Amino acid sequence: MQEKSVLEQENVADTYDEPSYIIVDKNALCDIFKFTFCGICNQSTLKLEFGHKYGFSHQLKLICKTCSEQKMECFTSPKLEKKSKNTSTPFDVNVRAVHTFLAISGGHASVEKFCMFLNMPLMSSKTFNEIKFYINSCFPNCVELCT
Ligand SMILES: [Zn+2]
Repeated sequence: MQEKSVLEQENVADTYDEPSYIIVDKNALCDIFKFTFCGICNQSTLKLEFGHKYGFSHQLKLICKTCSEQKMECFTSPKLEKKSKNTSTPFDVNVRAVHTFLAISGGHASVEKFCMFLNMPLMSSKTFNEIKFYINSCFPNCVELCT
C-alpha cells in the first residue's frame, strides 16, 4: 500500500466538519478577487468588504463595484447554540480564542497583546467576559480550572 504524500495528508484538514481557522492577511484575502470576474457584468471589479466585527468574527461582503450586485455575505466563523437565556449566541472563534487565553493563563490582557502584535482588531473586554460567562455556563469547572 502506498503512503499518502504530505500534500494529501494536509488536504485531509479540508474535509473536517468542525470549524478550523487560519490567520490570513486581509490584503491576501482581497487579492483573491482582483482577477475574478462578476457573473452578471463580466468585469473583474469584485471587492471584498469588511462589515461588522464581533470579537474575532468579521462580516465579509463580496460586492461588484460595476453592477453593485452583492454576491455573498457571511461571517468568518459560525455561531454556536444559545446555552441558556442568560447567554448570547457567541461565534465559535470567540469561544475558542477566550478558552485558549484562559487556558494559557492570559486573560484579556493577553488578548490585547496578541491583537497588538498581529495588528488585529481587539476583542473588547466586554466580549471577552461575555464569552467567559458562556464557557462557564457550558463547562462549569473549566474557567476555574483554566485560570
Ligand atoms: Zn458585476
